[in-house]
Amino acid sequence: MATRLRLLDDAAWVSVNDERAVGTSEVWPVADSFCSCALAWLVVEAYVDVGADGRQVEARAHGHCVSCGEAGTTAWLPVGRVTDDGFSDVTGVRRSRQGSPASACCGEP
Ligand SMILES: [Zn+2]
Repeated sequence: MATRLRLLDDAAWVSVNDERAVGTSEVWPVADSFCSCALAWLVVEAYVDVGADGRQVEARAHGHCVSCGEAGTTAWLPVGRVTDDGFSDVTGVRRSRQGSPASACCGEP
């Protein structure tokens, strides 16, 4: 079954299979080169792109690091997985990977 992904409310929410799954104002630990911090604490302000690779849902987010203040857009980061029971958030440190998800979409009807 295909995973239906949308961005809602001016990209403040990622909707997965018509349920609001992940919102903004979350703080994510990001182990990446988002800024000069070894571990960035990213406040998510908006979602730029959302996509899925199988059951893994990934997104690019715009936000800023609470430690150093640097703002920008992340690479693709995992946000959660679609399970048989619905959607389950990623917890813990997020790492980007090379490339983009198999199916990316943004705000389509
Ligand atoms: Zn930082």
